Amino acid sequence: MKIVTVIGARPQFIKAAAFSRVVKQTDGVEEVLVHTGQHFDSNMSDIFFEELDIPQPKYNLGIAGGSHAEMTGNMMIELEKVFLSEKPDAVLVYGDTNSTMAAALSAVKIHIPVIHVEAGIRMRTIDNPEEVNRIVTDHVSTLLFTPTIDERRQLEKENIADNVYEVGNIMYDSYLYAVSKQEHTSENSAFESFDGTKVNIPDKYYLMTCHRQENTFDDVPLKEILSAMNYLEYPTVYPVHPRNKERAARLCKENGFNNIILIKPVGYLESVYLINNCEKIVTDSGGLQCEAFYAGKQCVTILEHVVWQQTMVDNRNQLAHADAKDILLKLEAEQMVDDDYKPFGEGNAAEKIMNVLQKYERDGKFNV
Ligand code: UDP
Repeated sequence: MKIVTVIGARPQFIKAAAFSRVVKQTDGVEEVLVHTGQHFDSNMSDIFFEELDIPQPKYNLGIAGGSHAEMTGNMMIELEKVFLSEKPDAVLVYGDTNSTMAAALSAVKIHIPVIHVEAGIRMRTIDNPEEVNRIVTDHVSTLLFTPTIDERRQLEKENIADNVYEVGNIMYDSYLYAVSKQEHTSENSAFESFDGTKVNIPDKYYLMTCHRQENTFDDVPLKEILSAMNYLEYPTVYPVHPRNKERAARLCKENGFNNIILIKPVGYLESVYLINNCEKIVTDSGGLQCEAFYAGKQCVTILEHVVWQQTMVDNRNQLAHADAKDILLKLEAEQMVDDDYKPFGEGNAAEKIMNVLQKYERDGKFNV
């Protein structure tokens, strides 16, 4: 069986690492990795390949920036060439980025089955560019793997009922892997500020990530969020997405937000280290909300729409507006953690996916 896997953005490298590890242990499966180039900085891309031992991509398309249409269109053109020359049994995509949708559309148009991992997630707002990517990808996919029963039910509502498998959240596989490597992380960790100086992480700190367009497109929402974090009793560690580093640094300087430690984006093992050792988390990232949940850390999510409704229980994850008062109020609430509540599976999603793919191959279903 030959699979072409298309990745392009940070969370996809983390997910791909889990599946690629299973590929390595499985006879008769060849995986060709294609990196679209959507994320390219070494802290947003290379570090994940090194740390998580992901095989080097055979193709790097170097496509980043531009409008959504430009990026998606350019990716489609180049991906079609790769698919025609590689002739895979299937194309595998993760999540909801432009790389995901471009690969799915290019493959389905030339009759190559599409496998979508993290299918069925909906934010229920078409204003969110990733929502378009999710809907389109799900509707052209042959095999769909959902993280929980809820996404499976969502797909049923959209009349996608065949070939849908609930396998657990593949990010949980990755999280558990990173936890198993933690002893190496703390001692080797080099957290750096943007000028390259080493940063010591305090014993007690809040963790924040914030990079979504709606929170960072201008000064107003980001300043509100930073002012809430600056008010807290412990410093906030904020690994800043390269896109926002100038704005974040300037806002901290202009407003005297000295209780916020800006650092360069970190590798995945370091990210899990920061999650596992912090007090509480404030984020607008889909992945980080789940990781907070796995780690039993209380999370406040600065978005107007729920992404992972399974985490929204017992104050474990609450939505807040980009408003300092609202964020502080939500952070005050006490969470309850029920250790038996595990909606995201057992951390073996990649193995389950592989089992289904092998059954498909045995049944000759990829050849139809
Ligand atoms: N992450 C990381 N380094 C960082 C910040 C985040 O490795 O400096 C990880 C984080 O633990 C999570 C993923 O990147 O697994 C989230 O990626 P991102 O926020 O870019 O995307 P989203 O989850 O919103 O799709």
